[in-house]
Amino acid sequence: MTNTPQSVILRVAIPTPLRRLFDYLPPPSCDTSRLQPGCVLRLPFGKREVSGVLVGLLEESEAAVEQLRPAFALLEEHALLAPKTLALLQWAADYYLHPIGEVCAAALPKAIRDGKPLPRTAWSLSDRGKGLPEDALKRAPAQARALKLLQECRQGHETLRAAGLSSAVLRELHTKGLIERCLPSSQPPRWELREPGPTLAAEQEAVIAAIEPGQFQCHLLQGVTGSGKTEVYLQLISHCLQAGQQALVLIPEIGLTPQTLARFESRFATPIAVLHSGLSDGQRLAAWQAAQSGAAGIIIGTRSAVLAPLARLGLLLVDEEHDASYKQQDGFRYSARDVAVKRAQLEDCPVVLGSATPSLESLRNARQGRYRHHQLRHRRSGAMPTIKTIDLRGAALRAGIGEELLRALRHTVEVEERQALLFLNRRGYAPTLQCHSCGWVADCDHCDARLTVHLRQRALRCHHCAARKPLPSQCPACGGNALLTQGLGTEQTEEYLRSSFKCPVHRVDSDAMRGRDAMDTLLEIAQRQEPGIILGTQMLSKGHHFPAVQLVGVIDADALLYSADFRGEERMAQLITQVGGRAGREEAGGLVLVQTHCPEAEIFTTLKAANYDALADGVLAEREKRGLPPAGQLFLLRADAREEAAAERFLAQLRYAVNPHLPAGCQCFGPLPSSMPRRAGRFRWQIWCLAPTRRALHEAAQQLVAAAEQQGKPRELNWFIDMDPIDVQ
Ligand code: ADP
Ligand code: ZN
Ligand code: ZN
Repeated sequence: MTNTPQSVILRVAIPTPLRRLFDYLPPPSCDTSRLQPGCVLRLPFGKREVSGVLVGLLEESEAAVEQLRPAFALLEEHALLAPKTLALLQWAADYYLHPIGEVCAAALPKAIRDGKPLPRTAWSLSDRGKGLPEDALKRAPAQARALKLLQECRQGHETLRAAGLSSAVLRELHTKGLIERCLPSSQPPRWELREPGPTLAAEQEAVIAAIEPGQFQCHLLQGVTGSGKTEVYLQLISHCLQAGQQALVLIPEIGLTPQTLARFESRFATPIAVLHSGLSDGQRLAAWQAAQSGAAGIIIGTRSAVLAPLARLGLLLVDEEHDASYKQQDGFRYSARDVAVKRAQLEDCPVVLGSATPSLESLRNARQGRYRHHQLRHRRSGAMPTIKTIDLRGAALRAGIGEELLRALRHTVEVEERQALLFLNRRGYAPTLQCHSCGWVADCDHCDARLTVHLRQRALRCHHCAARKPLPSQCPACGGNALLTQGLGTEQTEEYLRSSFKCPVHRVDSDAMRGRDAMDTLLEIAQRQEPGIILGTQMLSKGHHFPAVQLVGVIDADALLYSADFRGEERMAQLITQVGGRAGREEAGGLVLVQTHCPEAEIFTTLKAANYDALADGVLAEREKRGLPPAGQLFLLRADAREEAAAERFLAQLRYAVNPHLPAGCQCFGPLPSSMPRRAGRFRWQIWCLAPTRRALHEAAQQLVAAAEQQGKPRELNWFIDMDPIDVQ
């Protein structure tokens, strides 16, 4: 160590797969008093120039000072990540054992990662704009909307962009002399109630009264669909805005944004920023800036929004908290729900996890007193649907639909003139194509999986990789003409429904819902309440409102019943309860019909009693007994390689190296192949590690990661660790 006493060393997080920090000298001629943790620096890294986040200032480095390179420049004058945000990112990097530089990068927009300074303009109404008659811009709705937003207060360019107004709209208004540039405001955003909400029911009041602002507490809000959870969120948000703070609302998927945004916008006049993966870089930057500067009162976003820096966070809401999409499945594998809870703790504010079917993780936390548990037991209007099983044994089926379900469908759409919703969790026409003469089956060349028949596209497609082939007209093996499809997908059922019903049939799956507006169009149709049938995959279970749906049919419950995943039963209960929750929302008496070959299975008995809690209790007891999550703690260490033996060997060596040192009570299994060992041409193996406590789990995980880093690996082999995995196959 050869540092001079006054030297300042910068410790920086850099986006690289290396799990460590890097030391630099300050940029030349930089006022070092400006250098604070959370600042972003431009730095030389190898031969590249990168953005790194300053996480600490040191007096000495472990490296010799002559070897340290100076940073190029400070990107913004002030810290972009506040100390609490930085602490959150640090925690996440430690907890998920992911490189801190990549975690920090996940919290920054692309412009900053690319070294571009943040745009800085705000707009306000000019005198001319203020005097404009209300209907003057009737023909230009976007411009009218911009003026309306600016009437309330001056707003940053980024806030207006985040509200969906393009730069072109603002340029146009500026050319017309209706708006002018001004300095951005750093005041908390103005807000107003556009309309008061309904008078709350007593059970809603009780929840709101129990959620105290300004202090950390995790609240589990369990309420059946239609019980008024969203209304509780809206009330909590208004308290939060009242206190001059920002509310962060996480939703499980992009498709729900327009619906959520519309409901929030009609309640509050305040800048709302939307953050999700469907935005352009420019829109994302604008929304990020609105959140970071404090200009947005409400931030609605999918998973990654939980990492966005916020100037004055006062409330965190996680809607549909059980949803698997909160867990990132590649790269930085974090759970946005769990990060949200940690974030609330660091920021000392309440967090509310809402769901009709809470995850067992959250239920267990509630039962053990770590979370407060609130229940909304009644729908605000209409009764709960009746759930009934239909025994399929020996029944005649048409496109998977038995006589009883068919009759109920006819009654719903033709007699009652209502809508019916059918759930089938398999897209395409059929999951298998087979030759009746020689037995040939269409398999994927790259995965241990069959190709799905997509009749409309005349293609065979793999649902696990990008493979796609034209649909053969003859058997490739024997040349015969006896190709048959086996099994059932949404396309096939759709075809049948269209041929035997006069009413419109809408298919909702990732093939049919490609376009940006497809879901909006469908929701509009649903709002119009004309008789019709909506047929779809699990996309239907995600919390969309279908007010006219009177009948819900689960076509193939057996497919859900047999799952290789220990969470299979939990998922099925959530799915059926969620899909069932779409029935009869506005009026009395929806009906849910579940087709199965094993109606005596216990899960149906509990579901029929609409008793998700009883079911959860049973499954939880089972998990306690087996030491599986959430009772025990789990991580997977996974490796994939083009050569099967390489993946297995790498993990076997790893296991051998750490085995003698594992903390007491930890159990390791494997290496084991994944349930689909080959996927997209790569062989996938894994080690399971179960531990009785988080601490033991973490210790074991650290040991495995350290050993994996030390061990060395074939170049083409990838390995990664997945803490609290939710896909264990
Ligand atoms: P959830 O989010 O639990 O599905 P919502 O908040 O969407 O429930 O409420 C369901 C419906 O009931 C909505 O149309 C909502 O406007 C209405 N609603 C909610 N709370 C009340 C209330 N206290 N009084 C009257 N209607 C209510
Ligand atoms: Zn053949
Ligand atoms: Zn494939």
